[in-house]
Amino acid sequence: MRIDCKHVWEYISAYIEGEVDADLRAQIDKHLETCEICSAVLDSTRNVVVLYADGRIFELPRGFSQRLHERLDIELAKAVP
Ligand SMILES: [Zn+2]
Repeated sequence: MRIDCKHVWEYISAYIEGEVDADLRAQIDKHLETCEICSAVLDSTRNVVVLYADGRIFELPRGFSQRLHERLDIELAKAVP
């Protein structure tokens, strides 16, 4: 099974939180090694998640996923001329 960027983005918050199974994690790791876009997305997503984990809010706020996807669109627009 090969995964593409959209799959990575779909699972990225679960990936950061360690909630994906070993198989999927390996696939994502492999993808990240070769994909600059997803590496950048991972970095910015991780910052957001760490920010919330640091405070006392453990649940992602409403709209987080929507904002994340908007952000992904921006990253993708920058990456693809
Ligand atoms: Zn990718």
